[in-house]
Amino acid sequence: MTELSELSVQEHQATTERLLKGIPASAGIAICSHNVVVIKKLRPSKNIQVSPEKIPAEIKKFSIAIEKSLAEITSVIHNDHETAIHDIMETYSMILQDPTLQQEITKRIYTTRSAVQAIEDEFDAQCALFQNAKDEAMRERSAELDHVRHRLLVHIGKRKPISSISNGAIIISHSITPTDLLELHKRGVSAIITEIGGIASHVSILARSLRIPAIIGIPNITKKIPENCTVICDGYSGTVVINPTANTLLDYEQEQVKEQKKQKALGQIIELPCETTDKHTIKLSANIETLEEVDAAIMSGAMGIGLVRTEYLVKSDGSFPSEDEQYIWYKEIAERMYPHTVTIRTFDVGGDKKGGVKREENPALGYRGIRFLLGNKKIFRTQIRAILRASNHKNIKIMLPMISQVKEIKRAKKIIDSVKHQLREEQIPYDTHISVGIMIETPAACCIASDLGKYSDFFSIGSNDLAQYTLGADRNNGYVADMFNELHPSVLRLMHHAVTGAKANGISVSLCGELAAWNTITSLLIGMGITELSVATPALLLIKSKIRKTHFESAKKTIEKILLSGKIPKEFRAKSKKRKTMK
Ligand code: PEP
Ligand code: MG
Repeated sequence: MTELSELSVQEHQATTERLLKGIPASAGIAICSHNVVVIKKLRPSKNIQVSPEKIPAEIKKFSIAIEKSLAEITSVIHNDHETAIHDIMETYSMILQDPTLQQEITKRIYTTRSAVQAIEDEFDAQCALFQNAKDEAMRERSAELDHVRHRLLVHIGKRKPISSISNGAIIISHSITPTDLLELHKRGVSAIITEIGGIASHVSILARSLRIPAIIGIPNITKKIPENCTVICDGYSGTVVINPTANTLLDYEQEQVKEQKKQKALGQIIELPCETTDKHTIKLSANIETLEEVDAAIMSGAMGIGLVRTEYLVKSDGSFPSEDEQYIWYKEIAERMYPHTVTIRTFDVGGDKKGGVKREENPALGYRGIRFLLGNKKIFRTQIRAILRASNHKNIKIMLPMISQVKEIKRAKKIIDSVKHQLREEQIPYDTHISVGIMIETPAACCIASDLGKYSDFFSIGSNDLAQYTLGADRNNGYVADMFNELHPSVLRLMHHAVTGAKANGISVSLCGELAAWNTITSLLIGMGITELSVATPALLLIKSKIRKTHFESAKKTIEKILLSGKIPKEFRAKSKKRKTMK
């Protein structure tokens, strides 16, 4: 059970400063002294039982809570046309109107449970079915149920409304789903801190894209934040400071100012060429998950979109968007980016992402990416039709996720050809020479890269999954965060193998995994022969500044030595600047 409680600082408290260390998941500093929102375990309710004569009143309370929650949700649906939020609200509305759920709660009230307790018990029972599921989509269902429960309790007067989360809040929670984060971003949260999670998980990636400082993997933090405290979230070093002293506060405030100055200074290189000191041009692109990110990418000088994660279009109930919905979205991105290219990755559902099949023992090794698409041709064909229709300006590329065999590309291309044929018959224009490339994100794909390259127009290395599958370390699991080392020599050698395979076929190779944004190794990536780096927008200028300081020929020699020895000098390994923790 969860309880949302808002702790506000009325006056400065003379409490001791405490530091908690977690995993830095998204850079940035947030300081919050009025608005820390903790989502923590609920103490057992005191008013569990009511006397039989109070049953009708409790039923009335419950039905008023349903009405008020529905009215609130309907008004969001009417006023908010942003797809992700709209879809979430539709799901909440469906759950609220579910007759079985309503009957079960009413039945519980008839057994003399209070309305609050009946709601808690029924939602607990429903959530239990989903929350330990291995499948991410099922676990998300549990989070959705929790939201609905929360809304009902708000209207019964037992909880603070989520809409009370205001600008600047720091959210402290056991976990956060990507859909939660999108909603919280809309409400202007300044940082998130969670008990679990992995650095390459999709919520961490999204936090980086949205520039929300985030720290993950602090066990029991929801129990460690006292009421009436000030919190600093240092997403650079993964440090949470509770009740900072005046000196610490000043220190962090100065850091924030320094960061702002640094960003401003980086702004001066936007117009400059993205090339090494020895004039070797590198294409620097942006990864996006939402339409809103396109303008920011353009303003930061992105030379293209190297990865559109289209699975973010999958609705929260797991259903897929229609052809027209997709077409409008893809066309909008392509037109805004024109003449730059946009690489649209077909739905990479399954694994830890929404959509896909519901029950799998081991989803990361299961029916995800291209495997799902080839088994669900209607979904695949619909997406390809939408992409092709949007490709009329000739700046779209198609990218296939999770390829590990030549036959997967052949089968996918056959489907693409058949959709092209259909469009020709219908006289619908599209880019007849559209490029079809693949993600290289399994060790298998790296090993057979020279074969895969015969059937691909380009490669894009997905280092997040490549590291996960090479090292056998779940990218979402904080317990194996130390094992999840994208700079492991095995990962670098496999990436190099992919580059060699691309070169043998005369095709380009980009890197769109998180490693591309790792600013200490930019020179190594370029030296390896990667010609395009695609990163979250906030990292664009920093990476550009690194490219502009790199000497291509010397970088080539350095990476050759590293690949041979398997030893990575320390200066390349220091991923994030570790801030001195202030006392
Ligand atoms: C990757 O695996 O590196 C990648 C870019 O894809 P995603 O993170 O969406 O799985
Ligand atoms: Mg991937």
